[in-house]
Amino acid sequence: MKSRDYMVRATAADAQIRAFAATTKNLVEEMRSLHNTSPVVSAALGRLLTGGAMMGAMMKGENDLLTLQIKGDGPIGGMTVTADAHGNVKGYANEAQVILPANAAGKLDVGSAVGKGILRVVKDMGLKEPYVGQTILQTGEVAEDLTYYFAVSEQTPSSVGLGVFMEKNNTVKQAGGFILQLMPYAEESVIARLEDNLRQFPSVTAALEEGKNPEQMLEALLDGLPMEIVDTMDVQYRCDCSKQRVERAMISLGKKELEEMIAEGKEVEAGCQFCNQKYKFTVEELERLIL
Ligand SMILES: [Zn+2]
Repeated sequence: MKSRDYMVRATAADAQIRAFAATTKNLVEEMRSLHNTSPVVSAALGRLLTGGAMMGAMMKGENDLLTLQIKGDGPIGGMTVTADAHGNVKGYANEAQVILPANAAGKLDVGSAVGKGILRVVKDMGLKEPYVGQTILQTGEVAEDLTYYFAVSEQTPSSVGLGVFMEKNNTVKQAGGFILQLMPYAEESVIARLEDNLRQFPSVTAALEEGKNPEQMLEALLDGLPMEIVDTMDVQYRCDCSKQRVERAMISLGKKELEEMIAEGKEVEAGCQFCNQKYKFTVEELERLIL
């Protein structure tokens, strides 16, 4: 039976901590098969998708949209993930086929594949201007970069763990993660206990390989800190693209680019970057886009 991807939201120690944990194996595998990503890109983008799914669930509004963008000088070039508040997430990497040797720990070298660069977090909450936070990548390993973003940009001390474990045949064996956040009024004893638990927690992929589900990951991470599950939510890879959205992306290419396409006099096919769905534009439709 196919396991279900889902996310658990919880609070602990009388709401001094808020916590998220998720299993995302199916959605990361769906991304992998859609984009035919190499193992190191599956791991990098899988981690960002997992973090994005949980960060999406932090948003307050029904229609809020979160976009995470990583731009780095490594061979992946960059990654984009978009998530809503209901567990729907999608993403793509600029370069899907990066192959790198394993790092010193024998693991997929996500840090080198991403390189040095920036993380941008854009929250579209239906206001005129979206919220934009931008931080420098710390390691390019994604979890540390999100931890740093929370500390610097949102002034929320957090611990982020993300993991993607690949099968020998390059499909996704395990994927998941957690985010723990300290509220400003957290007591010293609570912080000390949490730090202790984090030191003893092996890693997300090790926990998943042991068969732990999100609830059990949180039980280990929040050991000794009374936990209350707030809710659980299915998470999935979902693209809601339409010809109109792709049209907007076409318009953003600029007038010159569009005029060149029109001069070719042929129908143009444009794909959605998130799901590869193809949309066709006739010359007449292209002409309408530059009006
Ligand atoms: Zn799409």
